Amino acid sequence: MGSVTLADALTHARRRLSEGGIEDAAREARLLVGGLLGLAPAALISQEARALTAEEEVLIEGALARRLDREPVYRILGQRPFFGLVLSLSPDTLEPRPDTEILVERLIPIAREVVAAKGKCRVLDLGTGTGAICLALIDAVAGVHGTGTDISAGALETARRNAQLNGLSDRFETLESDWFAAVSGRFDIIVSNPPYIRSTVVDGLAEEVRRFDPRRALDGGEDGLDAYYKIAEDALPHLQEGGAVAFEIGFDQKEAVTNLMVGKGFRLIEAASDLGGNDRVLVF
Ligand code: GLN
Repeated sequence: MGSVTLADALTHARRRLSEGGIEDAAREARLLVGGLLGLAPAALISQEARALTAEEEVLIEGALARRLDREPVYRILGQRPFFGLVLSLSPDTLEPRPDTEILVERLIPIAREVVAAKGKCRVLDLGTGTGAICLALIDAVAGVHGTGTDISAGALETARRNAQLNGLSDRFETLESDWFAAVSGRFDIIVSNPPYIRSTVVDGLAEEVRRFDPRRALDGGEDGLDAYYKIAEDALPHLQEGGAVAFEIGFDQKEAVTNLMVGKGFRLIEAASDLGGNDRVLVF
């Protein structure tokens, strides 16, 4: 001991993760060790000969044990990147997925147009969780003011912390609400990444998701569509004229969610696929 270098630690971490059945062990080892020591990828390479302190070794061992118990790497680190922001995570919040960045991307031009026309764009993010979607839009477009709702007070606390962490608190507020129940007023954009997985499917999800994401952020009821029914029911009176409603959806829900929204008087204006080529984003 005492002579363990950063390079040794990375090799050790990769081997343990790989032996523990973690896919992509090399990448996860770099993320974990780099994150724990506060070293960017380039520094992991340039400092590979540096000796670790005993405390650093203990820290890495502890994190490896958690990862081998299937806790996702960014939960162990306590935060993750999302659309250029750093978001803290908590047991009350879904860990934002890279696919959700596509939803943000699609909303940026819409928000810009509203700001160009009115000087300001009001966004309502239903079931905001970490605040990911709302905060990314606020960060990307000057003039966006966002309200993040959630049924979980713990999630809202995390969302507020994330607004603060990223310097966006002056244009972000939270509201404890079961979908629209406590919402008043009208918004230019209403967005949601609600729970959309069928109840029977949730139990079969990877342990990383099933055990560490909150079930109520995943479980969309028998057909996975419970949340869309509720949101579609009350969206119109909360939408500004010419406004947009945008959803993340499950890979096989495009038709059902479109029919649901069309039945409430909406028109589909855009659909986008995720990084794996599945239908993932709908804008009405
Ligand atoms: N996309 C998430 C997953 O794959 C589900 C998120 C959701 O239900 N909104 O687990």
